[in-house]
Amino acid sequence: MATNSPRNNLLRIVQQRQYTQSQRAESAKSVYRYMLTNSRFVRTGNFRDICSSDLGLLFQITDECFFEGEVGRLCEQQANRPLAFRLSTRMTSAGGMTTMQTSNHLRNPTTEFEIAIATTPLFATFSHEPTAVVSGVICQDRLEALQRIMEHEMVHLIEMMLWKDSNCSAKPFKNIVKRFFGHTASNHQLLTPRDVARKRLGILPGDQVTFTAEGQNLKGHVNRITKRATILVPTPQGTLYDDGRRYQKYYVPLNRLKRA
Ligand SMILES: [Zn+2]
Repeated sequence: MATNSPRNNLLRIVQQRQYTQSQRAESAKSVYRYMLTNSRFVRTGNFRDICSSDLGLLFQITDECFFEGEVGRLCEQQANRPLAFRLSTRMTSAGGMTTMQTSNHLRNPTTEFEIAIATTPLFATFSHEPTAVVSGVICQDRLEALQRIMEHEMVHLIEMMLWKDSNCSAKPFKNIVKRFFGHTASNHQLLTPRDVARKRLGILPGDQVTFTAEGQNLKGHVNRITKRATILVPTPQGTLYDDGRRYQKYYVPLNRLKRA
């Protein structure tokens, strides 16, 4: 392989580059400022709306500032489609997710990459709390938190492209995110719907709750909390559950629940 192939360029940067803490902070700040000026919806630190092209922009500028644009170049070379960006309302505990899809059709093997960012925890968090810790870094607003998530997902993409595999609980990943972005953890402490239910409504899985559905006042217990809560209401005609009782299942938005 040529020494200046996108793969070798990225490999060299990822393995050798050292940033000081102030260089890192400076680069992160310029990404922040660039987003406020150039993105479609992200016009303030605590933006209230975002679109997938804003994610594309954030990826691009982060790539330019930290990896000389080599992540995007290698992706273009390895993938059969442009890198896809998706906002997910369904992921409620992970901050983001990067996937590589390959198909091994003999005649036409393809590879595609996608970065998905979860909007639910991102939007919940800065409505209720002034700061949040993401990847071990204190974030003052939604844009800072989004940057940390994108940085994390970008390193997943880098590892997938360079080594086919990526694992954020393993040492090599931790080493890269630390050197480039100062991350000290692989998780976030953004509010999940479960946290919101607990903190704001005092509701935990297992609790008895009341709610209205189809004009009736119903009472049941919380089985699960994702974007909405799953409530099981005892009903003779319902489905038989492991506890030997019959329930009908309701999906209820959190703000419509009251503790019984
Ligand atoms: Zn991860």
